[in-house]
Amino acid sequence: MNKVDVLVVGAGVIGLAIAREFAMAGREVVIAECQVNAGTGTSARNSGVIHAGIYYPTGSKKAQWCVRGRHLLYEYVERHHVAHRRIEKLIVAAHGEADRLEALYQTGIANGVDDLVMLTGDQARGLEPAIDCDLAIHSPSTGIIDVHELMHALLGDAQAHGAMLAVGSRCARAERVGSVWQVEVSDTAAVSDTLVTCDVLINAAGLDAIALARNIQGLGADHIPPMCFAKGNYARLQGRSPFSRLIYPVPVPGGLGTHLTIDMGGQAQFGPDVQWLDAPTAEQIQRGLINAFDYSVDETRLERFARDVRTWWPGLPDGALTVGYAGVRPKLVGPGQPAADFMVQGPRDHDLPGLVNLFGMESPGLTSCLAIAQAVRGLVE
Ligand SMILES: Cc1cc2nc3c(=O)[nH]c(=O)nc-3n(C[C@H](O)[C@H](O)[C@H](O)COP(=O)(O)OP(=O)(O)OC[C@H]3O[C@@H](n4cnc5c(N)ncnc54)[C@H](O)[C@@H]3O)c2cc1C
Repeated sequence: MNKVDVLVVGAGVIGLAIAREFAMAGREVVIAECQVNAGTGTSARNSGVIHAGIYYPTGSKKAQWCVRGRHLLYEYVERHHVAHRRIEKLIVAAHGEADRLEALYQTGIANGVDDLVMLTGDQARGLEPAIDCDLAIHSPSTGIIDVHELMHALLGDAQAHGAMLAVGSRCARAERVGSVWQVEVSDTAAVSDTLVTCDVLINAAGLDAIALARNIQGLGADHIPPMCFAKGNYARLQGRSPFSRLIYPVPVPGGLGTHLTIDMGGQAQFGPDVQWLDAPTAEQIQRGLINAFDYSVDETRLERFARDVRTWWPGLPDGALTVGYAGVRPKLVGPGQPAADFMVQGPRDHDLPGLVNLFGMESPGLTSCLAIAQAVRGLVE
């Protein structure tokens, strides 16, 4: 793979969607993934929710790509028989939160989520009898998906159009030499380095995208955002959930509040919460962040989960929660700052031909992946 047309760094759901997009447009694509398998990063540690697009500021990339991405994703998963369910969602509020719920509803409508319905507490209880709320938003187009099946389908499509996946291949640095990119790729098993030349270099390295960008020669420091990370812990519900839809409270700073999601196997879980992490050390960054974080969930967090959940489900039985899994959000801003948009930089931003960096690809990155892929191709073609 010493000379390729398009090199995509990172085989998460976004990297795979981008690889598919370029491969289907007839480009020669290689996906370099430093782990031994594709799809073991943040794409394997999320809620698996197909978001409607309600939360994000109108006109933001998150709003546009989530709404467009949701349409594209439903169409894709129906065509490719990827396991998913239009499970629906309620966003619930107590009386004192009515203004915030109304604002959320208006944002959703402005974002193009045209099927939202405001419900009274009684109407919400008609759908979900165990809920305690004064008002709710009903989102019929929220769904859940088997993310691994999705990634498998995206990779299959890309490979069917000639793309190659190189696992155990870490992209360490890149520089512009003449009219191409020269990328140093190390074989993580053999500890040997290869120089790969490409016309288009896509940095979709997820948690490591900023670390890689720091090693792209010629990319100005003003184009490299700060690294911030927020862990999202989940608590599992033992026993049967009384809810058949996803239930969310009104959002909190940094996250969507302690909500209930249900996976494709029917397991109900609460979270993710927001736990800001210390800045990684230089050694952790060097090793790669996917393996640097501690993904275990501290049992002492369960008490807080139970307290939050009981604000909208007072009937949560004592001792019903147990520790679940965790994921880490690549954030572009720290605690207390307003939420940042996705940052996807192409040649018009940094003046480097053929280079696209994707930073801060937190939620709704899964929902948006197909729309992001189209936008990324648009940036270099
Ligand atoms: C707790 C949590 C819950 C979420 N829930 C949802 C949700 O319900 N719905 C939704 O739409 N979104 C959700 N998201 C967001 C979604 O999971 C992400 O946007 C998406 O998975 C990011 O995909 P990615 O391909 O950018 O990153 P990743 O999946 O992390 O992939 C990046 C890949 O790059 C590889 N890599 C890194 N560095 C290198 C290198 N130097 N060389 C080669 N390979 C490298 C990594 O090994 C990894 O495989 C959630 C996120 C979190 C953290």
